[in-house]
Amino acid sequence: AETARNDFIRQIVREDLASGKHTAIRTRFPPEPNGYLHIGHAKAICLDFGIAEEFGGTCNLRFDDTNPAKEDPAFVRAIQEDVRWLGFQWAELRHASDYFEVFYLAAEKLIRQGDAFVCDLSPEEVRQYRGTLTEPGRNSPFRDRSVEENLDLFRRMRAGEFPDGARTLRARIDMASGNINMRDPALYRIKHMPHPIAGDGWCIYPMYDIAHALGDAIEGITHSLCTLEFEDHRPLYDWCVDKVDLAGNPELLEPLRRKGYPIVAAKPRQIEFSRLNINYAVMSKRKLTQLVAEGLVDGWDDPRMYTLQGLRRRGYTPSALRLFVDRIGVSKQNSVIDFSVLEGALREDLDTAAPRRMAVIEPLRLVLANLPEGHEETLVFANHPKDESFGSRQVPFSRELWIERDDFAEVPPKGWKRLVPGGEARLRGAGIVRVDEVVKDADGGIVELRGWLDPESRPGMEGANRKVKGTIHWVSAPHAVAAEIRLYDRLFSVPDPDDESGGKTYRDYINPDSRRTVRGYVEPAAASAAPEQSFQFERLGYFVADRHDHRPERPVFNRSVSLRDTWAA
Ligand code: ATP
Ligand code: MG
Ligand code: MG
Repeated sequence: AETARNDFIRQIVREDLASGKHTAIRTRFPPEPNGYLHIGHAKAICLDFGIAEEFGGTCNLRFDDTNPAKEDPAFVRAIQEDVRWLGFQWAELRHASDYFEVFYLAAEKLIRQGDAFVCDLSPEEVRQYRGTLTEPGRNSPFRDRSVEENLDLFRRMRAGEFPDGARTLRARIDMASGNINMRDPALYRIKHMPHPIAGDGWCIYPMYDIAHALGDAIEGITHSLCTLEFEDHRPLYDWCVDKVDLAGNPELLEPLRRKGYPIVAAKPRQIEFSRLNINYAVMSKRKLTQLVAEGLVDGWDDPRMYTLQGLRRRGYTPSALRLFVDRIGVSKQNSVIDFSVLEGALREDLDTAAPRRMAVIEPLRLVLANLPEGHEETLVFANHPKDESFGSRQVPFSRELWIERDDFAEVPPKGWKRLVPGGEARLRGAGIVRVDEVVKDADGGIVELRGWLDPESRPGMEGANRKVKGTIHWVSAPHAVAAEIRLYDRLFSVPDPDDESGGKTYRDYINPDSRRTVRGYVEPAAASAAPEQSFQFERLGYFVADRHDHRPERPVFNRSVSLRDTWAA
């Protein structure tokens, strides 16, 4: 299953297969279960799972659950749901905590090799000893402890003899290294807190770098893809893999064999790519969490959120997101993608995938006065203008219609093509109407239009072909189903909501018009939709039946995206 995609990562994979360096590709997606996945993660998922799939390999889902303080089982469930929703399936579901016993044995091995030591410096002292970009660090006074003393202290750390922060296990590398990550980084810290999966057997926890590198090695990951901020960690990643050498020391994997895990153990290669950034959006779990916690949005799956749950509820489809990720490509160049690229991918996907329906969001009554009282008929409409496989549907038509208030103007602006007093427009698929009377209330507000439907202009008739300027959509009033329609727009009104100059924060840039709820009407064939079904409401945009609130007798639709980009400069 070769792929046509050809970015620098796929080139590496292709070469590694061609040269025989690897016979099979193994990747992993390693989220920390401390929040919901966002659109940035979709890029990582599409790369990790997509590349494995394209080259006939496998991808694991591994929860990076080395920090027991931040984890929540709700996140673990949601992340699995999101990955499946995007259309991917993991080969193995793993947790970094599955490997705690192996990490521990590896740490003892490092101590015995003289590659790690127990350090008693306080966090503040560690910072002082670390040095700066221009100044080398200084050796810890505990750096030359004997192997015996280190082993003893490390075992007592594990046994719970010392309080949080009293000691750390540190790699013994090079305090003068130009790369600060190599200046004797911490490998283990003390934290007296039970782990949601590993239980209360641990009070020392491995740091990200050792856990990540060894987790990859344990699973035989061939290509470990991550974002550019880990580039400076790669030497430490390689150091951990090489110094522990799991492949050459299979006894370290004994605890996993006992648990029945299939073990591969190979030397992984870390490859970095640039993060996804999108304008008009924030994309850090911390900020997304704050938006929810501070009530600035309605929850994790608020359709304006950049979480996958939010995008899903908004009406984004897995194929639109995959198309988007394909389109932005992969490189090592940091950049900001324009929001319109994301919206464009959704439009493109829904244009081919979404059936058409009619709905009116700001209703004005139009009575076709020349039709007999109580007149009703059924018209047949194609469900998709470009794809016959969508079939057709029956649309009720009658003497009284709802049309869009915006489609009538008493005093039309220049270039107006829709209804005016005495003027004509085509009612989509039903004939040509002329407005004869504008009915107003005591305050002069327009409450109803009365018109004349040209009987020679009905569908199929010769007179239907005569030229009129505009075509408008409608819904038959007695058949229409009242619907709640949520009109969403971008959550932020500025391209860079992360810009904190001038003492502002992203909170100050919330777009006040990002959510508006209106009462409209939809045709029966839209009301009966299943939750999460998408439609193009003709002339209005793409809408999705709300995943949670939609009921056929009480329809709720979310606007996913308008038909055209209204934000373009
Ligand atoms: P955040 O900074 O939002 O908290 P994170 O990087 O801490 O995100 P993780 O759960 O650790 O989140 O991420 C899992 C994987 O997703 C990592 O490999 C990470 O590099 C990748 N990832 C996270 N954000 C992005 C992004 N914006 N673009 C591409 N990949 C991303
Ligand atoms: Mg992370
Ligand atoms: Mg993070």
